[in-house]
Amino acid sequence: MDELLAKLHRTNCLTKDEIVELLGGLTPEGRKTLYRFADETRQAHYGKDVFMRGLIEFSNICKQDCLYCGLRRSNGGVDRYRLTEDEILACTDEGYALGYRSFVLQSGEDFRFTEEVLSGIVRRIKERYPDVAITLSVGERSEDFYRALHEAGADRYLLRHETASRSLYDSLHPGMSYDNRIECLHTLKRIGYQVGAGFMVGLPGQTPEHLAEDLLFLHELQPEMIGIGPFIPHSSTPLAGAAGGTVEDTLVMVALARLFVPAAMLPATTAMGTLDPVGREKALKAGANVVMPILSPLAVREKYALYENKICTGDESAHCRHCIEMRIVASGYRINLGRGDHVAFREETDPAVNFA
Ligand code: SAH
Ligand code: SF4
Repeated sequence: MDELLAKLHRTNCLTKDEIVELLGGLTPEGRKTLYRFADETRQAHYGKDVFMRGLIEFSNICKQDCLYCGLRRSNGGVDRYRLTEDEILACTDEGYALGYRSFVLQSGEDFRFTEEVLSGIVRRIKERYPDVAITLSVGERSEDFYRALHEAGADRYLLRHETASRSLYDSLHPGMSYDNRIECLHTLKRIGYQVGAGFMVGLPGQTPEHLAEDLLFLHELQPEMIGIGPFIPHSSTPLAGAAGGTVEDTLVMVALARLFVPAAMLPATTAMGTLDPVGREKALKAGANVVMPILSPLAVREKYALYENKICTGDESAHCRHCIEMRIVASGYRINLGRGDHVAFREETDPAVNFA
């Protein structure tokens, strides 16, 4: 076991069989070593900095029907909403005033937000705040759409691959295509976005082999960002009775992702904080280096329920900002409110480059 961990630390890769062996044989001691290697690796690339992104969940309307997700179109119990352009801008105003220079605009696959509408919103944000980075997370769209939004000023795009196992993917995504999802990720990379892939841990039917495939997929794609969170069953979905993922299993995958893609931007996800009050702190200590506090208006926060009991739905944005800040500092890290670009995308002049 120690040999496998040392090899991973040294080479940043293992074979599928080796990953499965590692996952099967990790002792509590082995986990500690793994987290330590992951933390060292993250510090080698980003120091002690934890990058903050303000998350704006601007629509919970979705045409897709992913089995695990509370926003799936078949869930008739959702109070659907769409923020107006001005409401979205107001979120960025509040975020900017709080110090955020990185915003994530996320929604279901809501096609009312066309190329024209979303480009207009991105342009307006960039005109008002030229020094911010904008990340989009609005699902699978056409190459033309992705290009137009990149030209409008979107810097990054999050599209988790969800699982790199085609059969598992197909069983969870009726009417969707695994090939199209992967193709979208390649298209986004080609266009020049900083791209985020990622997966859920604890999906029904997910095996160590599947998780090994996720890590190898990430190693091959080399995304700039990697979102990993536990699957949390939602009571109004077909997977209501499933067991879901655990914090421990997810931490192991976060740490492994850090070692397989050493310079990735890796968020300590809200889902981790939902399962465990200090889940995000644990993720930071296992190699994560990003947090994404919610900036959406209070009135809609509870309605954006990918899963239930999501944390921070009742808190003012200013409160969230200070709460997370305290947690980061208490964990021994340093807050970075800058754009938070991946090392390969940084300008020479970015003051955050130097960790000497
Ligand atoms: N519609 C876009 C973005 C919003 S969903 C998309 O699907 O890409 C954002 C992420 O939430 C998904 O990628 C999925 O990994 C995660 N998610 C959805 N339902 C979840 C659940 N029940 N538990 C944990 N994560 C979930
Ligand atoms: Fe829609 Fe995204 Fe939920 Fe799938 S995961 S149903 S695409 S919001």
